Amino acid sequence: MFRMIIISACLVGEKCRYTGDGFDYPTLRQLVEEGLAIPVCPEVLGGLPVPRVPSEIKGGNGFDVLDGKAQVKTNQGADNTAAFMCGAAEVLVVAQQYGACMAILKERSPSCGSKMIYDGTFTDHRIPGCGCTAALLMREGIRVCSEESYSVLRNKCTTGKPPVICLRDWLRV
Ligand code: SF4
Repeated sequence: MFRMIIISACLVGEKCRYTGDGFDYPTLRQLVEEGLAIPVCPEVLGGLPVPRVPSEIKGGNGFDVLDGKAQVKTNQGADNTAAFMCGAAEVLVVAQQYGACMAILKERSPSCGSKMIYDGTFTDHRIPGCGCTAALLMREGIRVCSEESYSVLRNKCTTGKPPVICLRDWLRV
């Protein structure tokens, strides 16, 4: 059975970041062009506009938000927790529809970060932890990595073949 990859839309050229822009990683865009990956933006799926004021998790990480122990707040103090939870749930629905077994998500985002996030003080201080969508996908058994760790993973699953071909082989489970 072939499994799709969930990928943060802003990594493949979608201008959905809070700043109104996006990134373009050609190796990740290739996954979408090859039909291996589905781009999603949890914050847009959760109903937030582009551009939008920045948000950070206050008082914990994405798992804590899922468990009601932390909140997502804007830099103006507004509570965005419901939108972030909604977006995470929408991404999970997409992941389940496509039988996704892996997600490549933007590091440090309060939704998509998988290893590091900002600490909720809007002072550019990072802490270990994941965002809300990453936490929900992990909890549902989906492997989550970042655009930064993807290249390491890709090297692990390639042995001389072009990366996309190897990844396709690897995803056939
Ligand atoms: S990091 Fe995630 S939530 Fe933020 S813009 Fe990218 S896809 Fe959307």
